[in-house]
Amino acid sequence: MTKEILIATHNEHKKEEIQQILGERYTVTSLTDYHIHDEIVEDGKTFHENALIKAKYCFESTGKPSLGDDSGLVVEALDGRPGIFSARYAGNHDFAKNMARVLEEMKDSENRKAYFITVMCLVDETGEHYFEGRIYGNLTREISGAKGFGYDPIFIPENLGLTFAEMLPEEKNKISHRRKALDQFLDYLNN
Ligand code: IMP
Repeated sequence: MTKEILIATHNEHKKEEIQQILGERYTVTSLTDYHIHDEIVEDGKTFHENALIKAKYCFESTGKPSLGDDSGLVVEALDGRPGIFSARYAGNHDFAKNMARVLEEMKDSENRKAYFITVMCLVDETGEHYFEGRIYGNLTREISGAKGFGYDPIFIPENLGLTFAEMLPEEKNKISHRRKALDQFLDYLNN
């Protein structure tokens, strides 16, 4: 029998990506499959708290093992901003405005160090389990590349000469923060 994992998302792309990585031993479902359309208020102060809020809400609504995730960009010279505010730093899900604000705040900074982070939280009958992935790199001074989403056009992973937005999605997905968190989650399921 396959085991079900409910992902706290309406994003079918995210659901499919996780299904592919977990393989046929697991059935991945989403909030859409459960017709849950309530807005889950992400008012945590950390990535961990926000991932937990989503997973807990789903587990309490359905009783199924539930996975919540929260991601963002952390910039050293900005004391960790945009951080948990990444999606709405200047405009709600307005990637161009959000990148423009980061570049403006960083215009006099020689320190370009930043990382992307994903925190995932699994809530099931045994409690809460966390998985984390990070990718370190540097911010550019200008937007470069058109692939991907979010802050991809201003982030160059360490030891690579291209921004995430200049890389093929397959290349990014092999090294991304999200991929690393999912690999940890998979290790946990297999052990
Ligand atoms: P979420 O928690 O996965 O919805 O991510 C929150 C926000 O972080 C997104 O809206 C993006 O602004 C940013 N972000 C997360 N992951 C990435 C990424 O892989 N590339 C670029 N931006 C990202």
